[in-house]
Amino acid sequence: MKVSSSVSNAGLLPGTPPKGCPLKLPPLSVVQSVSWERLEPLLENGFTIATSVAGRPGRTLVPPDVATCDACLAQLRDPADRRYRHPFITCTNCGPRYTIITGLPYDRPSTTMASFPLCVACAAEYDDPADRRFHAQPVACHDCGPTLALVEPGAEPLQRGAALARARELLAGGRIVAVKGIGGYHLACDATNPVAVQRLRERKQRGDKPFAVLLPDLDAAHAVVELDPAAAAVLASPARPIVLAPRSAAGSPVVEAVAPRSGQLGVMLPPSALHHLLFEPEPRPEPGSGPQCPLLTALVLTSGNLAGEPIATDDADALTRLAPNGQRAGDSPSRQRASSRTPFS
Ligand SMILES: [Zn+2]
Ligand SMILES: [Zn+2]
Repeated sequence: MKVSSSVSNAGLLPGTPPKGCPLKLPPLSVVQSVSWERLEPLLENGFTIATSVAGRPGRTLVPPDVATCDACLAQLRDPADRRYRHPFITCTNCGPRYTIITGLPYDRPSTTMASFPLCVACAAEYDDPADRRFHAQPVACHDCGPTLALVEPGAEPLQRGAALARARELLAGGRIVAVKGIGGYHLACDATNPVAVQRLRERKQRGDKPFAVLLPDLDAAHAVVELDPAAAAVLASPARPIVLAPRSAAGSPVVEAVAPRSGQLGVMLPPSALHHLLFEPEPRPEPGSGPQCPLLTALVLTSGNLAGEPIATDDADALTRLAPNGQRAGDSPSRQRASSRTPFS
């Protein structure tokens, strides 16, 4: 028997409980309304998430993509963690949602992760109500998830850490790399290298329109643009927007060609673990054991398409459109992407 109507709580910030609610909510949860009705008890124990029934009437919201959370970042950087440097690390508090959904309700079979069966360790986390990855649909690890690959014209494809190291090397060398992240391909190049930026501008047929710049963290952003606390908070928010801000008066390593004749610069922080790893080379086993790849400090990141065309999300399409064989010798872009099995677009 229904005993009351609903109370609207629209407009509450994520993670904020409605007034009077004693519960601590997950960081990404948004309470849009509260309603209650009296039901006959089922006399069952425990807590379960029932299997979704396809085709039922009702409205289900498509959740947005969310940048890597602090807990996942800590694991990404912890050599003792089994997801150390896993480019697709996610949990219930972060990761892709909107761009991997193929149908509703939002369950793993209705995502591009459907073709990646969970390993035993991931399945245990997925099924444990006390775990941060309980029912996290994109959950994966080095053993069961998609693998990173780098495809470079005329060379054998590289996998995993080798792919990432080579991508960083190419970027540091002034090359353009197509990165398949959340939502499709982006073209990236070193934002401190005027030749690389100009080459990307020509490749994109972009005229002198400004590019946005990806920076590793807030400290790096403060060094490049003037950010007040509100702008910094927006920049670091889980939606990872591009924030337009005045260029730093002290000057920055980001070259003028990124946004010609503009006193402002569009900046963003890494939207995924893969983007974090582009700035974080794998530590050498011992100090001085082999040459260290130069550090990348700022990358131009622009949609993987030519002017007026849609962004490339399909691997074969990206190879055709973003790495055309007809380019000048020595000017062929290499491509970094999660393998054709990637779920993240
Ligand atoms: Zn997370
Ligand atoms: Zn796994």
